[in-house]
Amino acid sequence: MPHPESDAWFARARAVTPGGVNSPVRAFAAVGGTPRFMASGQGAWLRDVDGNEYVDLVCSWGPMLLGHAHPEVVAAVTAAVARGTSYGTPTTTEVELAEEILGRTPVERVRLVSSGTEATMSAIRLARGFTGRDLVVKFAGCYHGHVDSLLASAGSGLATLGISLGVSTTPGVPESSAAQTIVLPYNDRAAVEAAFAEHGDRIACLVTEASPGNMGVVPPAAGFNAFLAETCRRHGALFVSDEVMTGFRVSRQGQWGLDGAVEGWTPDLMTFGKVMGGGFPAAAFGGRADVMAMLSPEGPVYQAGTLSGNPVATAAGLATLRLATDEVYARVDEVAGTIAAEAAKALTAAGVPHVLQANGNMFSIFFTDAPAVTDYATAAGQDTGAFKAFFHAMLDRGVYLPPSAFEAWFCSSAHDDRAVQQVLDALPAAAEAAAAA
Ligand code: PMP
Repeated sequence: MPHPESDAWFARARAVTPGGVNSPVRAFAAVGGTPRFMASGQGAWLRDVDGNEYVDLVCSWGPMLLGHAHPEVVAAVTAAVARGTSYGTPTTTEVELAEEILGRTPVERVRLVSSGTEATMSAIRLARGFTGRDLVVKFAGCYHGHVDSLLASAGSGLATLGISLGVSTTPGVPESSAAQTIVLPYNDRAAVEAAFAEHGDRIACLVTEASPGNMGVVPPAAGFNAFLAETCRRHGALFVSDEVMTGFRVSRQGQWGLDGAVEGWTPDLMTFGKVMGGGFPAAAFGGRADVMAMLSPEGPVYQAGTLSGNPVATAAGLATLRLATDEVYARVDEVAGTIAAEAAKALTAAGVPHVLQANGNMFSIFFTDAPAVTDYATAAGQDTGAFKAFFHAMLDRGVYLPPSAFEAWFCSSAHDDRAVQQVLDALPAAAEAAAAA
């Protein structure tokens, strides 16, 4: 599809913004080509500045559970804007949104913030303040926002035992900060046990994606989250479950609803974002009442925000959550199941090695001949050239996939049969393109 307007805007963007984008993965760096500048979204569809239309399988990287411009969300937002956009005082919608979150999850208290990054950053500060300890454990391939201490990768010792302290993955993060982070291979109980055996009395918290989606979808092995919760409990560390991506998306209760609610454990702290903001900057962290009581102004751990609990953002989030009924989740699950199965079928028919992995309605396809992807090392082994060809073939046929092989695909309840059919029609040729790459 021709895209001269996107080309022109991208040139203008690069003259004023590093890489021409305000968040790196938007730049198509992994797949090449010009990122499309979107002008509008409606339901399952995005329209770019050249007038091309795409079925959206990114959904703003998760938030748009109900699709774009859902009329009732738009009405709630419009009404909120008309009343004024920010007061810097408490508002009733904040309380209602918090109540909605408490009603769906095991958290006992919640604090609203403006981004997932802020949520995890604050949860970690709170865990450190509560425990009086400094070390944080995370898993390679899990993303928790651009928090200094969480932009660490494993030191080389990880290859042998998996208990080295982390090194920063980006200039600008002090080594002293990354060195407070222990990075372990995901789904590896022995590595977790070894880390806690060596450093247990210095670990403030273990933070994990409740079900990782940021290395592609790599679900926890059965009982893994329960094991993490129990290990933390034994060592007096807090278990922080990051549900920024999965929260209110994979089920009404998020990943916890598929996991802890069934197995009978609860995280000490949880983080949320994306869906709960309804497409606006709203996120949250919450958890045990005694831990949350440490937070200012009730307790000594400082945390604040001029736009936290913003009335427009909370109106969008509240409307979205109230509309996210069991029928909505059933539809999203159905759409995701159909697209995932048909994509795998097309790749099999074209002879392209791949693994389809799903966690509820989040799924991704790894272009690999590994039998399963259980950690970042396996995910990293995939054929990104095949993905690139697949991605562009889909884009040319009006399907907007995440522009990276290491991302989940997201659907919405607005993906109707016409939108799904456009995806299914594009798959065989895209699979052939991947085979030829
Ligand atoms: N945690 C997880 C699991 C995420 O997926 C993300 C964003 N993709 C974040 C935290 C950071 O959220 P934000 O981009 O809103 O800062």
